[in-house]
Amino acid sequence: MAIRNIRELGDDILRKKCREVKEVTPRIRELIQDMYDTMYEAQGVGLAGPQVGVLKRVVVIDVDGTPYTMINPRILEADGEQTGSEGCLSVPGKAGAVTRPNHVRAEAWNEEMERYEVEGEGLLARAICHELDHLDGIMYVDKVEGDLYEVGNAEDEDEE
Ligand code: ZN
Repeated sequence: MAIRNIRELGDDILRKKCREVKEVTPRIRELIQDMYDTMYEAQGVGLAGPQVGVLKRVVVIDVDGTPYTMINPRILEADGEQTGSEGCLSVPGKAGAVTRPNHVRAEAWNEEMERYEVEGEGLLARAICHELDHLDGIMYVDKVEGDLYEVGNAEDEDEE
């Protein structure tokens, strides 16, 4: 178990575009395991490569006990709309209102480099959109409606 340092807003690496993963090497496997460890430790529901300083198209998400390892993910379909409170492990202690699709279907590759699809509504749809944005250097603060507000550490705010 290895916890990696989470990069915070203002760190240039969060604004860079990530490269595709061509092959799941032992290094990538270790990265994925560390990303889960780091996300669970920080009580987040999603984490993307750049948040731990790695510019690769890798995302981990777990909003309800089902973990998704998403390599080279892409949204295939998005519809509906939801506006809700969103946070990010790279913007600690803050949240803000963001409008996202309420339903998305995405493709990704797992650790065996097998393609799969994931379909999500509500929080899962929000997490997928939020994490995939990270891979292109986009932060939720770019999309926030109104001001960010402070959230307590012990709140059940979902941070991605
Ligand atoms: Zn985030």
